[in-house]
Amino acid sequence: MAGDTADIVIIGGGIIGMSTAYELARRDAGRIVVVEKATGVASGSTGASSAIVRLRYTHTDTMRMARHGQEVYRDWAAYTGLARPRASMRQTGVLWMLGEPISTIEHERDRIRGVGGRARVLSGADLAERFPAISTCATPIDLVDGNDHVCGDTDAFLFEDDGGYCTDPVGATQDLVEACRRDGVEVRFRAPVAAVRTAAGRVRGVTLADGTTIDTPVVVNAAGPWCNRVNEMVGLDHQWALVPTRIQLMLRATIEVLPGGVPMIADAAGGIYLRPESGGRQLLVGSIRTEDETEPVVDPDSYDTGLDEDRRAALLHGLHHRLPGLVHRGRITGLAGMYTINRDDVHPVLGRTHIDGFHVANGYSGHGFKLAPAVGNLLAQVITGGVEDGDVTVAPEFLSIDRAPLEVREKGVLA
Ligand SMILES: Cc1cc2nc3c(=O)[nH]c(=O)nc-3n(C[C@H](O)[C@H](O)[C@H](O)COP(=O)(O)OP(=O)(O)OC[C@H]3O[C@@H](n4cnc5c(N)ncnc54)[C@H](O)[C@@H]3O)c2cc1C
Repeated sequence: MAGDTADIVIIGGGIIGMSTAYELARRDAGRIVVVEKATGVASGSTGASSAIVRLRYTHTDTMRMARHGQEVYRDWAAYTGLARPRASMRQTGVLWMLGEPISTIEHERDRIRGVGGRARVLSGADLAERFPAISTCATPIDLVDGNDHVCGDTDAFLFEDDGGYCTDPVGATQDLVEACRRDGVEVRFRAPVAAVRTAAGRVRGVTLADGTTIDTPVVVNAAGPWCNRVNEMVGLDHQWALVPTRIQLMLRATIEVLPGGVPMIADAAGGIYLRPESGGRQLLVGSIRTEDETEPVVDPDSYDTGLDEDRRAALLHGLHHRLPGLVHRGRITGLAGMYTINRDDVHPVLGRTHIDGFHVANGYSGHGFKLAPAVGNLLAQVITGGVEDGDVTVAPEFLSIDRAPLEVREKGVLA
């Protein structure tokens, strides 16, 4: 079987692998090959992503990375250099309804402003005026015993003006394939990596399932929920528990016009997040409850990709509580995708390993879409050894494989 050579091989054509390839290509990092086992892009986590891009996180460095992502997605056509990219950013704003005291809300507002984002405190009256369809109740719904719920008003909410979502995460990944190919990157589909070859403690190349070899000194593991399998190929034994985890979403057609529209909402009372989808013709609803992020996926190639009945009922209940004007009609569908959850601190593990030339980019825990541009940028800094104007200003050590676990507000999607 004919062999090939590359300066860098990236395993995985999801948003992380393609962002990394593009950032490397922008730096003329040599011959870059992306190998993806599926027939097209985004067949893993990226294809199911809600693609919400918001700034609030426990760690300021995570916020800086999210801010970098927000700027990249906002200027997507300029970033990719594509005249008509498939994806774009919808800046709906992000409304945090976590029932927090005003002091916390003001503190978080200032932290968001500190990384360059716009944020403000909305009073209950502001909210009612700006988004009249949204209930201001912050009293938790009892989903366990089904006790009657009495709504109680809340006075203050945090609003991130610049937040929103990418309209098409699969399209964004495809845009990067197009931009990469234009810039000389080879992107191969139907190219599963069966082995990563090493010798004397350093990477030598990869072997595909059909026996094709690519000799290379640098490999990036961007294999999403399959990352542990790729790490096993090089015998990488690290401290992190990276667990592919089934995550469910509900889509509900909107047949009514909601006055004032709906931003992205994080809603502690109902345990949900929601945002518009399909240009406002649907609402996308997911869970923010950590207990809904516990179902491991044993085989990422074969798991239940549907929405469970009980989860559907819980999400729907939360949705109607938050948007009481919704009529009880409208087609409901659902799906399940995979987070790869870093059970230790719900942050990714990124960069060099003790195997020379072997880099990891894994464990995004529900944050990987927004972080992808910054992740690609940081990996490009690490691999090429150079920092350029406009690079994300976070030390690569922040997420390195040998860091101590980070302290987070909660080990869940709102970390
Ligand atoms: C339901 C859901 C909602 C989400 N919502 C958000 C959100 O709102 N905001 C946010 O920021 N993030 C969100 N995320 C998380 C985000 O989508 C992921 O973190 C991100 O897509 C991970 O991208 P990835 O490229 O690492 O993985 P993937 O997209 O899974 O890509 C990995 C690729 O590697 C390929 N691969 C694996 N093994 C091999 C091999 N041996 N050889 C070749 N190819 C291989 C796979 O086929 C796959 O295409 C969500 C995720 C889900 C599931």
